[in-house]
Amino acid sequence: MNDFLLNSVRYIKGVGPAKYGLMRKMGINTAYDLLNYLPRKYEDRSNFLKIREIRENENVTFIARVVSTGYRRIRGGKEIANVAFSDETGIICGIWFNQPYIKNVFEENREVIISGRASKYGKLQLINPEYEILDSEDYELINTGRIVPFYSVTEGISQKVLRRIIKGLLDTHLKNIKEYLPPAIMEKRGICGIGDAYSNAHFPETASKASAARKSLAFREFFLFHANILNRKKKLNRTLKGIAHGLNEKLFADFISELPFALTGAQKKAVLSIKRDMLADVRMNRLLQGDVGSGKTVVAVCAAYIAVRDGRQAAFMAPTEILAEQHMNTISAMLVQRGIRIALMRGNMKPSERRNILGKIASGEVDIVIGTHALIGEDIKFRDLSLVVIDEQHKFGVVQREKLVNKGVYPDTLVMTATPIPRTLAVTIYGDMDVSVINALPKGRVPVKTFHITGKKLVDAYDFIKRKVIKSEEQAYIVYPAVEDSDGSELKSVINMYRKLSGSVFAGIETGFVHGKLKTETKEEIMKLFMNGKIKILFATSIIEVGMDNPKATIIMIENAERYGLSQLHQMRGRVGRNNKESYCILLSDAGNEQAVRRIDALVKTNDGFKIAEMDLILRGPGQFYGVKQHGISDFRVADPFKDSELLFQSRYDAKKMGMKNDDFTRDIFSFAALLYDRDKRISDV
Ligand code: ADP
Ligand code: MG
Repeated sequence: MNDFLLNSVRYIKGVGPAKYGLMRKMGINTAYDLLNYLPRKYEDRSNFLKIREIRENENVTFIARVVSTGYRRIRGGKEIANVAFSDETGIICGIWFNQPYIKNVFEENREVIISGRASKYGKLQLINPEYEILDSEDYELINTGRIVPFYSVTEGISQKVLRRIIKGLLDTHLKNIKEYLPPAIMEKRGICGIGDAYSNAHFPETASKASAARKSLAFREFFLFHANILNRKKKLNRTLKGIAHGLNEKLFADFISELPFALTGAQKKAVLSIKRDMLADVRMNRLLQGDVGSGKTVVAVCAAYIAVRDGRQAAFMAPTEILAEQHMNTISAMLVQRGIRIALMRGNMKPSERRNILGKIASGEVDIVIGTHALIGEDIKFRDLSLVVIDEQHKFGVVQREKLVNKGVYPDTLVMTATPIPRTLAVTIYGDMDVSVINALPKGRVPVKTFHITGKKLVDAYDFIKRKVIKSEEQAYIVYPAVEDSDGSELKSVINMYRKLSGSVFAGIETGFVHGKLKTETKEEIMKLFMNGKIKILFATSIIEVGMDNPKATIIMIENAERYGLSQLHQMRGRVGRNNKESYCILLSDAGNEQAVRRIDALVKTNDGFKIAEMDLILRGPGQFYGVKQHGISDFRVADPFKDSELLFQSRYDAKKMGMKNDDFTRDIFSFAALLYDRDKRISDV
């Protein structure tokens, strides 16, 4: 159905080789693309004035007759066409520069419509106005005399040319486009028919029809998008059967009840979904999304338990060595006493040590392997990898993820992210994944108190940190934007501030520092000291942003807070408030910049990661958001997932419901969606 829409634009009337090349650059490859290349604005040229009513600096349209034409060259070789028009109320001239073809357009006495901006050089006139000739047999209103579309164009394709091409396409093909939405859906959502939609989106009869058309096309675009995702899902389920893990439910229940803490409701729900996925013979592809500190790790541990108890293996990939090490500790604490064998793959292991571990992974003497992207090394082979867990997944690329997954035979995958993704984005980015959300923090957590202070209060802040750290078992992070001082930079640095403060303000308190330029072993050593309380105040860069879990840390002070994005600040704040004590986040900033002030303000006002993520989107635009570019979310032609979020969800619901049917009509549209997206993939692969 409608497959002809996917034919190349090069076969469309009016598109020669040069224009074809330009159109491809504009992202227009097929007739479908061209039809969905909507105007960026319209101008209403359907109200006709009398010539006498024309005023300076106004956009005007009028019907008139050609009175006289004149052509001349001026100095520099410029060619000027001067055509006088009149109606019963007056005369006005149109002037064209360097458009020799104008000679052949206007003949005396012809009836025309003219649109343009009136300007005054001595008398009123119109420079380069647009026109239609009315008294030819087959005249058509395209450039004036109606509501006229304006597209984003490039050098070489003018508004006029593009209008002509699109109008031609509509005239020849519109009647052949088959309606693919069932009438029930169109009626329920107030979506107009496909023919009306395209014709009114480009050449609207009225302004309100134009906006109804745009809405209809946005809905349709989302609908096809969802239909394609559902297709893929179906296909995956059929062709990529997953591993059906066996599980002794009683043992599993015991395991859960013997965890160091009771799972929250949200954690239990996530574990249940994962269990269901892992026991079924379909391949799990699940995103576990939860705010910082919501307790995702333990959920992943439950998944690993299922894999291991079925005699298989799990791999656990984290973005940094520190985090991998930390996972090694927490996961070991929960699983080692049950005889489960866990190995940590470091990036810098001795060859003999590495060989030893690789051997054990290959033979199955190791049940769970934890590591950074070191895990995707060519030489790492598993005996039976059935579960892949990827922590902080936004820190990894799709390719890295795939490489790890390919070490098993269709293993189940669980990817986790602490960057809460607004629903709109989750649907568009992770459309083909199932999503579990941990939307509540463990019981008893006290929301972190967040303050914004300026440099004047810095001494008080030091004092506050000092008292807290000395009086109780509590610990603190102080974050600086730079590693070391550099010439010409006013930014405070970790090393310099550590030197300065540890000997003065914080004398007598154990302090340490960590940053990305240190050797891995040194970093780990320091983090260990901080974890077990040997370091009380840790001077750091934002490398502590991801995942660090030290429940005794209750204060984080971030200097130059204006230098970080909202989500990043929220992640850093998430390093504290990880137990039931009152925790503090002190944001130090003297910046007067409005954006920065708004970010800091937002953070002071809310602890809700989802709200913060939404705000981040609004403040920065989706393009800046983690991974958005790589997922092509900006590839929608008509629809805007943010502005049209209601349509996004409506169309998903409708597509899902329709996808359950299996009649010809449904199959047709779903296969059209598949074709459409296949083609997109082919094109972007080139
Ligand atoms: P994140 O989701 O940020 O990765 P973690 O998994 O590191 O969070 O968990 C944060 C902290 O909360 C850890 O110290 C963990 O032991 C603790 N925790 C997790 N779940 C619970 C729970 N149900 N009750 C109490 N503490 C929990
Ligand atoms: Mg984590």
